[in-house]
Amino acid sequence: MKFKLSIKKTFFSLAILIFMGCEDSNSSYSNNTIIDNLNHSDLPGGFSRFYEEYTDVYISGDYVVVESKGIPNHPSPYWGTSHPNYQNPHSGMIINPNIITEQNFKFYIPLIPSISSNISSTPLGPIGVSISGVPLFNQYAGPNNQPLDSEIPSFDIYDGHPQQAGQYHYHLEPKYLTANDSSTMLIGFSLDGYPIYGPKEQSTNQYPSNLDELNGHTHATNEYNDGTYHYHATADSPYLIGGFKGNYGSLNGGGYFTN
Ligand SMILES: [Zn+2]
Ligand SMILES: [Zn+2]
Repeated sequence: MKFKLSIKKTFFSLAILIFMGCEDSNSSYSNNTIIDNLNHSDLPGGFSRFYEEYTDVYISGDYVVVESKGIPNHPSPYWGTSHPNYQNPHSGMIINPNIITEQNFKFYIPLIPSISSNISSTPLGPIGVSISGVPLFNQYAGPNNQPLDSEIPSFDIYDGHPQQAGQYHYHLEPKYLTANDSSTMLIGFSLDGYPIYGPKEQSTNQYPSNLDELNGHTHATNEYNDGTYHYHATADSPYLIGGFKGNYGSLNGGGYFTN
């Protein structure tokens, strides 16, 4: 499988070199872009939704691997004043001193998720990934379940901010994505393999009324016609994922909690 994918990638690389010359010449993000020559529409279910410009997504054994630099596809004060995507802080924002820094994320997400016999609380750090490759963090600001309230003033207008190592991330609904697409869209995946949707349901365009304590429930979606457990973004804590419903994968191929 992997060998076949490599061949396909090589073919497309050559094709792009020969026929296209310069890809993304109109993109202001070209310096930070992973050029992914695989067609994401070949991936199963919601995995086809990952943005090809910002993520490299492939199947490896029982996992879907999502590689990303973790940088946002939108302006932010956190790019730093000399960056072309710099944006002035919005009124009332208390900017933190960190600057968006490229990462080398490899999210190993179960290809076929399975409900765990024990719900696991999510750790600090990346607990999932948005379809634009930006990591998703949990509902806490630090150890011992410190509430997020103290950090929220440092969020940019798209509700993201970088931590000390420059990892830009969202604790809340990725507003740039939902504003440009839909509040019912698939916004990303939890590390347990279950998809995360925007705040409203695709079928009704209404807020769900029966979410469990993890922000999840089960029904059919556009990406999963047979139904799946999934999470929804909410305006209140836990915002994205209250805990892992399923058996979770890993980050960068390591034991998850050692990262
Ligand atoms: Zn944070
Ligand atoms: Zn739902």
